Amino acid sequence: MSSVIQLARPEIRELTPYSAASYEDGFVRLNANETPWPSPAGDQDGGLNRYPPERPDELRAKLADYYGLPANEVLVTRGSSEAIDLLIRGFCAPGKDAIVISPPTFGMYRVYADIQGARVHEIPLRADQDYALDTDEIARHWPEDGKLLFVCSPNNPTGNAFDTDQLKLLSGLLHGRALVVVDAAYAEFTENDGSIDVLNENDNVVVLRTLSKAFGLAGARCGVLLGPDDVVSMLSSVMPPYAFSTPCQNAVMACLTPDAKQQVSERCALLRNERERVSAELIKLSGIETVYPSDANFLLVKATDADRCTKLAQDGGVLIRNFGRQLPGCLRITIGTAEQNDQLLKSLKTL
Ligand code: PMP
Repeated sequence: MSSVIQLARPEIRELTPYSAASYEDGFVRLNANETPWPSPAGDQDGGLNRYPPERPDELRAKLADYYGLPANEVLVTRGSSEAIDLLIRGFCAPGKDAIVISPPTFGMYRVYADIQGARVHEIPLRADQDYALDTDEIARHWPEDGKLLFVCSPNNPTGNAFDTDQLKLLSGLLHGRALVVVDAAYAEFTENDGSIDVLNENDNVVVLRTLSKAFGLAGARCGVLLGPDDVVSMLSSVMPPYAFSTPCQNAVMACLTPDAKQQVSERCALLRNERERVSAELIKLSGIETVYPSDANFLLVKATDADRCTKLAQDGGVLIRNFGRQLPGCLRITIGTAEQNDQLLKSLKTL
């Protein structure tokens, strides 16, 4: 048993999961209230009149292989967004427990905490130190009610990855007090991802990964939580049965062949090169003050006039994200194909 499971809500730890209809090959299936015929709209995926397996075990085994972990330490979720939700529901009792975040960071941690009625404590990144994690502050002022620390690395929207040793240190310091959630959604775009190392050294760590970014499967909604087996099975019991749809399972399975994985890693290398090229071009523009170093597939940029940049890009047919309200003057620009990036750079030429 992991030590961290003790921090979960007792009622969730003791939950009796729903028991779904069983699947047995070679039997006529009259145990799940399905219809015996395929859908009238056609059935490219085969068997859509049937529920998928209660949990996508075949897919889980393939993902476990990809991340180099045993299958019982892998939970397949509907996007990593669902994993964030499950963690907060599993560990934070409404009105009692809290999460800790380091803004500026991914906005969904707060949204899910608000939905759950969990408190949110902020220990901001050090804007004066290129958005470094304030490890000292986290260690010194860890709140009594803090159950989960969300660390997004590489961080959205600042783009920087945090040092593996720093994450290990934090996990050690919070042992017995909190679960450290390393959100590594952009891991494939950095050359310094140590999230699995952090996980392997501490039993109060989970890592979130997603197929939405590097794998190009944002539309399939597949995320992955990697962590202690008891945390995985507890969170699995919170998910509805048959949660992961048949077309999504098929789409993700098709991307886990050796050829597809090879292509993903080549595309990530390409995007990393483009990221450095776009960064070098952007900083030459007179209205751009800073292009922050990035380990992700986007760049955080500080401009003299973020609204004007957004408008110029839009006039040139390109949407970029204006972060001006949270980070004055800042824009987040996703790296596209070389042609798309050129289109953006061209639209900003008159800055
Ligand atoms: N974590 C981070 C840091 C993200 O930026 C995103 C999506 N933008 C997610 C998680 C959620 O991604 P998904 O649900 O598509 O896996």
